[in-house]
Amino acid sequence: MTYYTIGVDLGGTTITAGLVNEESHIVYKKTCDTNLPRPAQEVEQAIADLCRQVVEEAGVSWEAIRWVGIGTPGSVNAESGIVEFNANFGYNNWALRANIQALLGCDVYIENDANAAAYGEYIAGAAKGAKYAVVITLGTGIGGGIIIDGKIFSGFNYAGAELGHTVIQMDGRPCMCGRKGCWEKYASARALTEDTRIAMQSNPQNMMWTLVDGDINKVNAKTAFDGMRAGDPLATQVVKDFVKYVACGLTNIINIFQPEIICIGGGVSKEGETLLAPVRALVDLEEYARNGERRVTIKAAELRNDAGVVGAASLGNQNRK
Ligand SMILES: [Zn+2]
Repeated sequence: MTYYTIGVDLGGTTITAGLVNEESHIVYKKTCDTNLPRPAQEVEQAIADLCRQVVEEAGVSWEAIRWVGIGTPGSVNAESGIVEFNANFGYNNWALRANIQALLGCDVYIENDANAAAYGEYIAGAAKGAKYAVVITLGTGIGGGIIIDGKIFSGFNYAGAELGHTVIQMDGRPCMCGRKGCWEKYASARALTEDTRIAMQSNPQNMMWTLVDGDINKVNAKTAFDGMRAGDPLATQVVKDFVKYVACGLTNIINIFQPEIICIGGGVSKEGETLLAPVRALVDLEEYARNGERRVTIKAAELRNDAGVVGAASLGNQNRK
């Protein structure tokens, strides 16, 4: 019999469930809207329905499903199966694992979504096989996942690996976490977008305006990179600052963990070497072990949007419950 697992990527906007084979490949996947705000019970039902649909439509029987893994935002106690705090959804102490287990009648594992995505990159992506790896996702915020000895590390209370909320600028930009100067206020895709807007607004004649048809709302994390490619000095400066911020946070992480691999995901990582080469050059100037023989590899994440599903589908390997 061929066995499968199901990985669920539960997000604030969409829910994706993927049927994953023993080689960690997604053989079939399906997405539905999360439709927030709504009660936890309805979200649980939607997850269970989606899992059943995926299995049915792929022509597989339930007996072939070893377990269901779920990556969800929030502070996730993987041991008790409780999502202790989840700001996006507004649920506290959500017994997600027990409730999905009751609905589907199979083993269920849950994990924080950034940790699940990091685990996916470790299982089948850019960090495959690395004993020590850190996965960073540059998005609305900065998601972080730390793999130590092949296991997700999230601290004694499962609230660790919040790498985006480490300060790179004392008394800097205020962050929703309550601190000032957090890395994600400077080096996330959203921060890059905001910095691009600010630069454009103080330069009404700048060429980047033509890239967005004069509409500030069309500015995104690609705008400054496109401006730089077109040779614009202001855009080049915005990218240069962004690279400096990314490299600063990465160097902090490297100095703490010295992982074998750091991989960078999120939409802005599609810039590839345009982003990574100058980031590496700065890290090379500052990293503590820069003269060492064995150095961390900084590369782009490979699984992109599938990392969360693949990682969640592999959670049963972790034995965390
Ligand atoms: Zn913060």
